[in-house]
Amino acid sequence: MRNYVWHDSVWQQLWQQPERLPHALLLHGPEGTGKRQFARAVAARVLCQTPSADGYACGHCASCHWLEQDAHPDFFLLSPDSGEEAEAEGDKPQKRKSAWITVEQVRNLVELTALSKHQGGWRVVIVEPAEQLNLNAANALLKTLEEPSERTLFLLVSSRLNRVMPTIRSRCLKLALPAPDLSQAESWLREQGVAQPAALLHEAGGAPLLALDLAEPAYREQADWLLRSLVQGPAMDALLVAEKLQDMPIATCVDIVQKWLFDLLQTRLVKAGCFYPDYANNLQALVKSVNLNKLTALLETAQRIRRSAYHPLNARLVQEELLLGYQALFQGNR
Ligand SMILES: [Zn+2]
Repeated sequence: MRNYVWHDSVWQQLWQQPERLPHALLLHGPEGTGKRQFARAVAARVLCQTPSADGYACGHCASCHWLEQDAHPDFFLLSPDSGEEAEAEGDKPQKRKSAWITVEQVRNLVELTALSKHQGGWRVVIVEPAEQLNLNAANALLKTLEEPSERTLFLLVSSRLNRVMPTIRSRCLKLALPAPDLSQAESWLREQGVAQPAALLHEAGGAPLLALDLAEPAYREQADWLLRSLVQGPAMDALLVAEKLQDMPIATCVDIVQKWLFDLLQTRLVKAGCFYPDYANNLQALVKSVNLNKLTALLETAQRIRRSAYHPLNARLVQEELLLGYQALFQGNR
């Protein structure tokens, strides 16, 4: 388990004085740039029984094997998804998947870490994403961070540092994990078998792991279809598009429309979009008949929908609202 190459310098900096490792690290940086992998690599290194001379986990010892199989007795993951099973087994089967880390999860974790002394070595807890701790969960975790148990390392991971509770932030050593530069990101994507990395990187806002997801054929097919629909502007049949996109997660749909709207706005203001350069000519043509006030209002709507995308009341309605709003952008100036 190694970090991505663009995090090498942070990695080396971290291990200059391994004996002075703090009890809580807050790893933050842009989404889709490999923070999770970095946290995993730190966990593996700390738990490894025989770390290599180059500072990484050996990959061969019992500890490394357990971690690889998600069966390490001293490794804990606290994330919204990790609570899914517990909820399903609980007495509230109707409870849907939460976007939040709950106080119950934190309490369970505290109990479990108190019991775990399997190796007599370190215990490692990854909290991800740290901004998804709800208020009670954050307060419960805070107590643990304020009175850390010996040889327990907390690794908090966040793409939205400003949304992590200040009290939590102040108890951690913050470590910024940078995004790769363009050439690093392109060559990494080529190594992963992506033939045309440049356009995908634009679409992913420069985040290579996100770009790799966007290259998935199933995603590409739907996304390209939606983009071609958006190109039609006022001629697009919003309800038909919403119907065809029933299987697309609402967050994905909002993400694409939001980026498209942003590109329209950019094209209007600075004559060039940034997410979909392949569609520059279409954007130029469309923007001539766009009502700017409506466009900024729709961007706000998209932002609002995005915030509630994990638990939309009615995904289809929300999608229709967005697409009808898009269709209506072009009417004001006609
Ligand atoms: Zn090892």
